[in-house]
Amino acid sequence: MKLAGASVAFTDMEVRPARHAGRGGVGAVMGAKGVKAIILNDDGMEMRRAKDPEKFKEANRKFVEGLRQHPITGTALPAYGTNVLANIINEAGAYPTRNFSAGRFEGVHKISGETYAEMEKARGGNPTHGCHRGCVIRCSGIFVDKHGHYLTKQPEYETVWAHGANCAIDDPDAVAMLDRLDDDLGLDTIEMGATIAVAMEAGLIKFGDAEGAINLLKEVGKGSYLGRIIGSGAAVTGKVFGVERVPVVKGQALPAYDPRAVQGIGVTYATSTMGADHTAGYAIATNILKSGGYVDPLRTEGQVELSRNLQIATAAVDSTGMCLFIAFALLDQPETFQSLLDLLNAFYGWSLTADDVVALGKKILKIERDFNTRAGFTKEHDRLPAFFRTEKLPPHNVTFAVPDEELDTLY
Ligand code: SF4
Repeated sequence: MKLAGASVAFTDMEVRPARHAGRGGVGAVMGAKGVKAIILNDDGMEMRRAKDPEKFKEANRKFVEGLRQHPITGTALPAYGTNVLANIINEAGAYPTRNFSAGRFEGVHKISGETYAEMEKARGGNPTHGCHRGCVIRCSGIFVDKHGHYLTKQPEYETVWAHGANCAIDDPDAVAMLDRLDDDLGLDTIEMGATIAVAMEAGLIKFGDAEGAINLLKEVGKGSYLGRIIGSGAAVTGKVFGVERVPVVKGQALPAYDPRAVQGIGVTYATSTMGADHTAGYAIATNILKSGGYVDPLRTEGQVELSRNLQIATAAVDSTGMCLFIAFALLDQPETFQSLLDLLNAFYGWSLTADDVVALGKKILKIERDFNTRAGFTKEHDRLPAFFRTEKLPPHNVTFAVPDEELDTLY
């Protein structure tokens, strides 16, 4: 259907199509090309070999040690998955609730990472699982229903927030079902949660109506007129139903951190090239988790510089093919960052330095930015929706306050 919310699904170790390239409408791109599936066949292929196996092995040992000793990558993520953030972000007053109208959700404890992990253990699922064979962190999990049958992978923090707090749904089984439906239909969970919340704001269904939310997703699967509107995402749904509070940048829905309570992530949402993308420069690390230093989330000072540096580092890490979650250990432990460079150098026979990594990140951002410029984007697209500057977010009663002129200095 070439819907803007369409994802690309990947099979995981259990050959379940439960892992998705969710953001950016990449599924619509495949649809536009008439591509249904890409199958990789490794018959007859040899394992790739490092140029310097001894150095590679040593660098790998240090790298793994670094990931295991960091409290986020070694303890929090394996135990509770990404949804360990639910209580933390809620406590910080930055957990977008009822379509970004409040920063705390009264039902957060029912859908937190801790609750999901307990449910999975009690029902015979698995809270600590790798989404692929090479992972050391293993933040993923397996969620089973109350009869012990597989339902979906452990729903991620963003998914639980989007379908949970943002829609005022506090039933963990309903959220897991919405996650499963998103996967079966090939939809971005963040976009769908944000869109259903906009539909709730429009009065199509009530906030907290889990069954209504499930039915709206099923409409997308049917390809009905309503389903096509919902599947086209929050921006289109807001326009069709005349909703003013529509949390999107460059047509893409905002993820699970309110930019009024975490100003650094607001800078990333506004300026990242694919639209509101938390992963492009994850300022939550420094604003909230105090990883890579600390910049006060409620102040405007230092946020542009923070976002810029993170965007450069992220573009470089993404290009290595590593999971972005290694970044916590890289930011806090210089020796782990060095071991990543050593890994790459030993594998490819390079002599990459830290400066080269920065230069690589900048180069990638410039190419992306150039693409956007040629596609017609201007600095006016590097903006958050107006309501973030006018509506105060409880409990801190703050607005997004980084000036436009400062946003424009980022690149
Ligand atoms: S690769 Fe990343 S997302 Fe997947 S389980 Fe490992 S840490 Fe989690």
